[in-house]
Amino acid sequence: MAEEEKFVRRVRLEKYLEDYRFTDSSRIRRKDGKAYLPAVYCHNGHNLMVRAVTFDGLPAIHVRGLVGGEGGPAEDFYLSPIINDARKEGPDLPPGTRLQLVCPICEEPLRTLVPCTCRVGAYRRALYLTPRPDDLGTVGLCEIFGCPQSFVSDDGELVFEVVAEK
Ligand SMILES: [Zn+2]
Ligand SMILES: [Zn+2]
Repeated sequence: MAEEEKFVRRVRLEKYLEDYRFTDSSRIRRKDGKAYLPAVYCHNGHNLMVRAVTFDGLPAIHVRGLVGGEGGPAEDFYLSPIINDARKEGPDLPPGTRLQLVCPICEEPLRTLVPCTCRVGAYRRALYLTPRPDDLGTVGLCEIFGCPQSFVSDDGELVFEVVAEK
């Protein structure tokens, strides 16, 4: 249980780019004082936004997770597009469950970005802010269920990072 409790500790939001220009067409936008992602894509350019699930009126991000890793049962998750908002819809798994995150459309595993500090061997997986990964607008999502650690970069620069305090 001690291992699981790590995931419910305090979370803080780091803002690295204070002068990020939020506009009606920026890749990260702002609504009611909160930053959110208007669109995210897999590495093959599939749009993962769905309107069937919304958070504060905003379309959710649809990702699929193979429970336990490659070959495990597939479950669908709908994540809030709001930065530092842990809300999601989908099965409630034990915190710490490893997921192989895949695109629900092409079913390819999301690309590996950087390790996550939540546990040895855990990685942040990549979603993109445009249909072209080369545009360097990236979302890093931890593959461990319940881990809140994520980040968003635009034009190759880190803009936001959600960090769990140990
Ligand atoms: Zn895809
Ligand atoms: Zn993690």
